[in-house]
Formats: sequence, C-alpha cells, structure tokens
Amino acid sequence: MRTAVFLYHAFVGEIGRGGYPVTVAAVTGTFSELAVGGAARGNVGHGDASGAETGDDYAIPHGAAGPCYISPMSVPAKPAADTAVHEHRLTLAEILELLVADGLVTRGDADALRAERRLQGAKTHPLIVVADQKWRSASPPGKLLGLELLTEWLAGRLGLEYFHIDPLKIDFTGVAEVMSAAYATRFAMLPVQVTTREVVVATAEPFLREWEGELRPILRKEIRRVLANPIDISRYQVEFFSLARSVKKANQKGEGASGLSSFEQLVELGKANRTYDANDQHIVNIVDWLWQYAFDQRASDIHVEPRREVGLVRFRIDGVLHQVYQIPMAVMNAMTSRIKLLGRMDVIEKRRPQDGRIKTRTPDGQEVELRLSTLPTAFGEKLVMRIFDPDVLVRDFRELGFSEEDQSRWNQMTRTPNGIILVTGPTGSGKTTTLYTTLKQLATPEVNVCTIEDPIEMVESAFNQMQVQQAIELGFADGVRALMRQDPDIIMIGEIRDLQTAEMAIQAALTGHLVLSTLHTNDAPSAITRLLDLGVPAYLINSTVLGVMAQRLVRTLCPACKKPFPIRDEQRETWNALVAPWKSSHPAAVHQPTGCLECRMTGYQGRVGLYEILLMSPEIRRLVKPQTDIARVRDTAYREGMRPLRISGAMKVAAGVTSLDEIVKVAPPADDA
Ligand SMILES: [Zn+2]
Repeated sequence: MRTAVFLYHAFVGEIGRGGYPVTVAAVTGTFSELAVGGAARGNVGHGDASGAETGDDYAIPHGAAGPCYISPMSVPAKPAADTAVHEHRLTLAEILELLVADGLVTRGDADALRAERRLQGAKTHPLIVVADQKWRSASPPGKLLGLELLTEWLAGRLGLEYFHIDPLKIDFTGVAEVMSAAYATRFAMLPVQVTTREVVVATAEPFLREWEGELRPILRKEIRRVLANPIDISRYQVEFFSLARSVKKANQKGEGASGLSSFEQLVELGKANRTYDANDQHIVNIVDWLWQYAFDQRASDIHVEPRREVGLVRFRIDGVLHQVYQIPMAVMNAMTSRIKLLGRMDVIEKRRPQDGRIKTRTPDGQEVELRLSTLPTAFGEKLVMRIFDPDVLVRDFRELGFSEEDQSRWNQMTRTPNGIILVTGPTGSGKTTTLYTTLKQLATPEVNVCTIEDPIEMVESAFNQMQVQQAIELGFADGVRALMRQDPDIIMIGEIRDLQTAEMAIQAALTGHLVLSTLHTNDAPSAITRLLDLGVPAYLINSTVLGVMAQRLVRTLCPACKKPFPIRDEQRETWNALVAPWKSSHPAAVHQPTGCLECRMTGYQGRVGLYEILLMSPEIRRLVKPQTDIARVRDTAYREGMRPLRISGAMKVAAGVTSLDEIVKVAPPADDA
C-alpha cells in the first residue's frame, strides 16, 4: 500500500511537469474505425503475436484481430452473451497503434517498445508500460505522456468518460457495498459513486464488460462505466475495501451502544453501555489509514467531529476545510478513544477538554508530530489533530516568503544582542513558524536558547523548551522567571497576553537578553498601542522594543496550472486600492488559479507569508508616548521604508506567486484596514 502511495505521487508529479489538463490531439473518428484500419494494415494483432505466446493476461486472444476490435464502446452494453466474444484486456499493441495513429508516438518508438516488451510478458497494464517510457508527445507542444494524460486520451479515444479518482470525494463505505473486493480486482475496476439511480464504475479495462451483465440485475441500477488511471484503481481497491471492511467490523462489534450522543447518553446513564476496544485491529487500521491519508494530502489539521447520526472527518488543506468521510458514530468513538490512548490522554474523561501529542511517521519515514485536543460537544467528543509539518524547522526565510528587503530589516533586529522583537497577526498566520525559523538560525552552540510556549508546537533539540502548565500555575510570566535563572541568551515567549508577562519580557530585555514573542494585533504599529493598553509605560517600550513584524499567510497559486491573464478593469481598481495611497503601475498580467490534479482542482498549493516590518527608529521612539498617535507612527514608518501587508501582497501578485483575491482576503485595502 505504501508503494502505491509513492507511485501515485510520482505520477501526479509527472503530470504536473507535463502540464495538465491537456488537449489531446484532435480526436476524430471512433475507436472502431481506427482499429479496423489498423487491422487492415496488418499492424494490430499480428505484430503482437509474442503477447499471445506468453499466454498471460494482457495477451491478445486468438482471433482478436479484425472484427474483434469493432467493439461498440459508445453504444449501450449488449447482453453478456453477445459481448463475451469480444472480451479482452487492453494490449500494448493496440495502445501503441492508437498512439501512432494520433501522432502522439512515432512508429519507430512504438515498434522498439513492442520488440523490447516481447520477451517480458505483459503483467503490467499497457498504459503504465507506455507512461514508464516518459515519452514526450510526438506532436507539439510535446507534452509528457504521463499516466493520467494517457488515461484521459484513451477515454476520449474510446468515447468513454474520463474519471479522476479523488478519494476525498468518494464514500468508500457506500461503494464497497456494491461488489466484493475480489470481483473488483478481477475486472480491474472500482465503483466510485452510488446514487439511487446508478452506479458509476471506474475501470482500467474498457474491453472487459462481462461484469456489467452480471451486476445490473443484482444492483437493479444503471451502470455507468468511466475510464480511470490503472494505478489509482488498484491502489484504491486496496484502500477502500479494506477500510470499508474495518469500519464494518468495528461497527458490528460496537453495536448496541451506537448512535446515542453523549447528550443523550447522559439520560441513558446507568444503563449497561457497551464500549469498543480502542485496540481492536480494525480501529487500528482506520486510524493508521486516516493519518497516512492526511499526510498524503498535505493536510494541516484533521477534525473528527461527532454529529447526531454520523461522525464527520474533515481535513484542512492550505487553510481550507474539506470534508473527507462520514463514519458511523460507534466507529468514530472508538477511533477517538484509540487516538486519545496513543496521546496519553484520559480515555474515560469525555466531558472535559484535554490535550496531548503523538509522534508518528509519514510513509517515507519522516517523523511527524500531532497535537491533539478534545472538546465536549452536544453530540460527543470532538477531536482535532494539528499536524506539524516536519519541514518547518528546515525552511529558510526565502521559502517563508521574505523578500530580500524583509530579510535585511528582520536581520537588523535579530542580530541585536538584547531587546524585544514582536511578531503579530491572528491565529494561524504563521507566527510560530517565523519564530522557530529565526531561533533555529540564532541557536549556535555558543548561545543558550530557551522557550516558554503554550503548548510546545515543535520539539527542537537545539532549544530548551518549556510548556505553560496552568494546572500547576506555571504561566508565561512564571516561566520566564524560571528561565532567567537558567542563564539564557535568547528567550522565546509564546505570547504576551498580560501585563505580568510583558513586564517579565521587559525585565529580561533590560538585563541583556534577546526576547522574541507574539501579540494579537492587526498590523505592526498597533503592537505599540497594545502594549500601552496592557499597562506598559511608553518609556519602557522605547527602551526595549527593537521592532514589530506583522504577518499573514496567503495561498500560493499552483505552479502546475496557474495562468497569466491580461489584467481586467475591476482588477486594476483592486490593484490601485491595494497600493493606495501610493501609486504603483499595475502589472500587465495577473496570474489566476485554474485547477488541476496536483492542487485538487483548487488552483492553489501551499502558502507563503506577507510581512510588514516596523523598525523602532529614533524618530518613531520620539512618537511613542502615553498618548501615542498611532496614525503618525504608521506614516513615519512608511516614510522610513515599512511596507504595509497589502503592498507586500501586491508585490507577490506582480511576481505571479498568488492572486489578487487572496491578498484582498487577508490584507484589505487601506481604507478598510
Ligand atoms: Zn493546479
């Protein structure tokens, strides 16, 4: 299963490089016509006699040449008895013949591949064999013939609907009930959608149709065949069926204590309540799958949410939640119990919020840390797992989206031996990542870096990290006090929320330490107002704060599918509003999201930061007084080179990194700020 995951990535990557979606060379004529033509030229069938000799699955059956290819693909299925004669698995010979006819592959390449494969038998699906050649299309623009592209091309060629299996959109329990795993494997197919009227079945073997006649009377539904990537089909066959089995088995075991919400269970208290075994192998499988799947999809959070009837599983990917699955409540409860158990949380306690953490590994062996938190809701315990990207600590500032200018302004502060540096922004704006990256850079063997966090987000061996523990009254301020006795050089305080913590930070800075911390404010200058509001005297702000950086995260356009478009009138207006009160000529073209398989059709992939860096210059210090005019501070900072968030954003739009919409969402134009 793991191998399959990598293969999947390898192919997706390939499609990306080749560009997608792709218009395949104009498809004219039907497959039937072409196949007949090929047979008439004596190419189909004859040339592949070797395949027949090997006697394996992909060999052309005897008598396959000629009429056999006149398979009525776009015509409704014929009775089983009639189609049986034509049943065969796709052969390399017929695929190559079609590719040559469409001008995608040269005759020479096709013949060479056929000769080479002659001795190897044909255990591999021919589309995979062709994709493995990494050929570029013989017709312009010479796109890479990857597996997904080939699948889509073949679908068009055969008049079948092309289908990309997006596991997030498939109700695996529903589709697994349509047929057995063995049956699906036998015909290289996978049911992908079940409605009251029809069953959509993805296949990689367009010429195997026997099953249609067998299934239709059993299901009493229309069957719609679609063509899908053979690697996806075999991968998801394994995943869906084994997962559906696990859910079913786990559900059977848990039956009896099922759908009642904790709300309703309160009423039921005292009645015998069967519980599920969190160590049940099926539950273990489901939890393992859930994680692997989340890593695979680059999710940052997994939400496991109880509802009255079913439990929902949602993933957050690039800041947006996607519903993944519905799982019976009984199974979800068992999953939550297992995860709590692994996170060393109190499994019995369900009415109090708890938190915990788990270290696990991605399929490629990278260590991943999951931070868990539970919350009692009306229908039971909701569990959220935050996945900490193991790459966070190895990223450099350029990857975080720092421009050269940002970098030099930031360094100006962080290279100072003592003082306070603040990072501001709402939750989820990447503040912690910035701080970790900075600390990591500063943590040389000669300095002692200590942190007090709530909670510790990433464990890094180069830092001495301490966690806030309200239960024993170890808050931020007490933490700093304790840290100070440990002879630190650099201190990171997770957040300054109260005067007590602010005072400790100031004391540390005044005694020769570099202090990094965060505040919740909208922009950099507001940090000064916030500190004044907390009760910090202006003269202490002036003597300790080195600077403030405000930041936001914006989604970056998917490099595989973004397209430049000439800037439209309303976009020009948006641009002008963004850069106001400055005037900055708009770019001639802006990139727009399109959507492809690599970005799950969202048009975006990954996120990058926007930064606004305020340096506490002598002139700004003069403006910080008990009654500070924050507008004047802002104007002075602009004059001294501070670039507001929205300008940083505009520059990222001009560079084609993100779209105008993304910037407007997180950094509105000046008037609304
Ligand atoms: Zn894309």
